[in-house]
Amino acid sequence: MTAPLDLAGIGAGPFNLAVAALLHRQPVNARFFEAKAQHSWHPGMMLPQALLQTSYLKDLVTPVDPTNPYSFLAYLVERRRFYAFVNAEQEAISRQEFADYLAWVATRLPSVQMNSAVESVEDTGEHFRLRVAGQDVLSRNLCVAAGKRPYVPECCTAHLSSQCFHALGIAEQDVDVRGKRVAVIGGGQTGAEIVLHLLDNTWGRPAAVNWVSRRSNFLPLDETPFTNDWFTPDYARDFQQLPQGRREQLLAEQKLASDGISPVTLKALYQRMYRLAHVDEQGPDLALLPKRSLIAMRYTGHYGLSLHNSLVDQDEFVQADMVILCTGLSDAVPVCMAPLLDQLECDEAGRPCLDGAFGTDWPGAGQRRIYLLNMARHSHGIAEPNLSLSAWRAACVVNDLVGRACYDTGQAPGPMQWTTRTAQQQAVA
Ligand SMILES: Cc1cc2nc3c(=O)[nH]c(=O)nc-3n(C[C@H](O)[C@H](O)[C@H](O)COP(=O)(O)OP(=O)(O)OC[C@H]3O[C@@H](n4cnc5c(N)ncnc54)[C@H](O)[C@@H]3O)c2cc1C
Repeated sequence: MTAPLDLAGIGAGPFNLAVAALLHRQPVNARFFEAKAQHSWHPGMMLPQALLQTSYLKDLVTPVDPTNPYSFLAYLVERRRFYAFVNAEQEAISRQEFADYLAWVATRLPSVQMNSAVESVEDTGEHFRLRVAGQDVLSRNLCVAAGKRPYVPECCTAHLSSQCFHALGIAEQDVDVRGKRVAVIGGGQTGAEIVLHLLDNTWGRPAAVNWVSRRSNFLPLDETPFTNDWFTPDYARDFQQLPQGRREQLLAEQKLASDGISPVTLKALYQRMYRLAHVDEQGPDLALLPKRSLIAMRYTGHYGLSLHNSLVDQDEFVQADMVILCTGLSDAVPVCMAPLLDQLECDEAGRPCLDGAFGTDWPGAGQRRIYLLNMARHSHGIAEPNLSLSAWRAACVVNDLVGRACYDTGQAPGPMQWTTRTAQQQAVA
């Protein structure tokens, strides 16, 4: 066994890659273990024309460390495409290019170890002992960023198959919708992208498409400036101080800031539907079904979907040969961490209580820390599962781990005052 690490990372998705990139100049012995052999970013949803919903400047490092060699601009320069990139004047870059940037960072950072699933983690009393690809590794601290898991509504779990599946893996599956009646469940960005591709015959020409959404309409992602202020460090800090009830209320109000459909996708969809209906006069039987909740499902050679239409308070019934679930992701503690998480302080809903550095003290001996990334939307706000604050969040982790402010995580005060300013803050402003 090699010398104990200062920090072991579980997962090397964007959130832990940001921590690794900010740590590379610090005297910290860290290693980030990633299960995959080759780096990829949600490859199962890497559909043609998929766009990043966040500015490329909110990359892994730039917002807190613009001279870091692992920035998106450094990637462009090394790939010798800087001028072409600027001249392309893209409002949003492709998810594919951002995924290539992430893989570029992962292959360059010596602290990232691919093909290394963390199988178990236990407390030795002094360290955490990780079982990684058949070897034991000791570490004083942990940073867990292992992603989320596809959410499958309870009434669908018994029916999961090659004809009823969650969309998150669709780009890696052999999907054939020719002549089928397809039901798409979920009215967010993923649902919209899937419907657009069904109408483009990406997987063959379907006979019918029913698009079911609980929302009152197919609503846009709000990307306007004041809404984007919810994705700033200042707001994230203020949000953490609010009582839990107020936080839940705000998260519900802010849904369209993170879970709406991008206006570009909405326009492409509407234009495609118009063409199919009025110009080409062909295409599948199409029905958009807002305000419907999927309440039950059965299989009798085809799928029978019971929907509740809450606009008129009536139940409806739809038949389908294929069901694609675009029902989002849910929080998932990696299996290897489950025994340790039982010992962490949790709120009434059983969710870990994290401090401003996204960490919690381990109750055992020594001052050890466990950082949990992308697991605290309830307490740290709407930006938690989003790329916007990944560099800032990583800076909070690094400063806390190193014990000094290696990175400036503050911002110049602006006119937006979320909470009452203290006299001291007024003076600084
Ligand atoms: C299709 C899609 C598109 C998105 N687009 C955007 C966007 O445009 N803008 C935005 O702000 N947000 C977007 N998001 C949300 C968010 O940015 C991503 O989900 C982001 O990938 C979260 O990063 P992460 O590092 O927490 O998790 P992940 O990216 O899921 O990475 C977790 C990693 O941990 C590894 N792992 C898991 N368990 C273990 C283990 N036991 N041992 C070792 N490794 C392990 C996994 O293999 C994986 O590589 C998108 C999400 C999805 C699903």
